[in-house]
Amino acid sequence: MKHNFNAGPCVLPKTAVEATIEAIRNFDNTGIGILEISHRTPGWERVMAETEQLWRDLLNIPDNYAVMFLGGGASTQFYTIAANFLNKKAAYLETGVWAKKAAKEAKLYGEVETVASSADKNYSYIPKGYTVPADADYFHITTNNTIYGTEIKTDMDCPVNLIADMSSDIMSRPVDIKKYAMIYGGAQKNVGPAGVTFAIIRKDLLEKIQRKLPSMVNYNTHVGDEPKNNSMYNTPPVLPIFVMHETLKWVKSLGGVAAMNKINTQKADLLYNEIDRNKMFVGTAAKEDRSLMNVCFVMAEQYKEKEAEFMDFAKKAGMVGIKGHRSVGGFRASIYNACPVESVQALVDCMKEFEKLNA
Ligand SMILES: *Cc1c(COP(=O)(O)O)cnc(C)c1O
Repeated sequence: MKHNFNAGPCVLPKTAVEATIEAIRNFDNTGIGILEISHRTPGWERVMAETEQLWRDLLNIPDNYAVMFLGGGASTQFYTIAANFLNKKAAYLETGVWAKKAAKEAKLYGEVETVASSADKNYSYIPKGYTVPADADYFHITTNNTIYGTEIKTDMDCPVNLIADMSSDIMSRPVDIKKYAMIYGGAQKNVGPAGVTFAIIRKDLLEKIQRKLPSMVNYNTHVGDEPKNNSMYNTPPVLPIFVMHETLKWVKSLGGVAAMNKINTQKADLLYNEIDRNKMFVGTAAKEDRSLMNVCFVMAEQYKEKEAEFMDFAKKAGMVGIKGHRSVGGFRASIYNACPVESVQALVDCMKEFEKLNA
């Protein structure tokens, strides 16, 4: 048995994978597979509408927010956000490489003020005590820093429009949507496969877009009124949206995001407790900022030479995808929503066993 800790794309709920296999053969009892059918068929329009409704129900998204499904990944949003909303100046919180890339793209459209950065300690903590300039068009944050295992776990009060990249922690906890002007991310960590990007945007922002933009870049095109585009101005990424639909149904069946958060906290506690207890390993992220989604750790100083050996030991026990990102080293276990507690327990057992044999 394999235990999948890949950082993204990553493990999906089994039920979502099974339903997708069936839909590829026979979509909605049409006798035709989902890959071979028009996105204008009623069955598909129902899946689109249900997917949006699942988002609205699970995250309690108010009516004055639009929900969009787009192509191009979170990285395409880095410049799309600035193109639509950066008129003069925007503020960015630099908590890692993804946050930095978002700011870099924004600079193409206006002034970018980096209000704080944790680059001094290789992004191992979330900066605190900074001031967001009141004249910024928006403040951009990355709530979960996938590479470094740090997370902003609460919804902050912000004096300007708050825009959050939630690629790797969306649907992992309840979110107070009203505190955000926009939430976006690639689906491939917590809500589906690669190929679809979600964007939740407060509608008043859409009315104030000033810059002349190509149709595909302007968010209004995807909400649109005549005829209502609903993320179908062009052909949507049909298969990834289908998998997302099934993934969200699974989240709902478990009791929604509050239930998800409870399970995620249990899984993270299990692993962090072992990292803190085991003398062979140390966590790399500041304790108060530890992510519930990506758990980063390295060998303790006196066991450094055992790193490759542990990797091999873990691999033999079925662990997949635990190699840390090259900028942090060591190990990273991504324990997203669909990662079962049994897999986390298997990794913990493996760490215990390795300590017994080596320490
Ligand atoms: C993976 C990731 C991205 C990049 O997403 P793409 O869809 O590959 O562009 C951006 N931000 C965060 C926080 C991520 O984890």
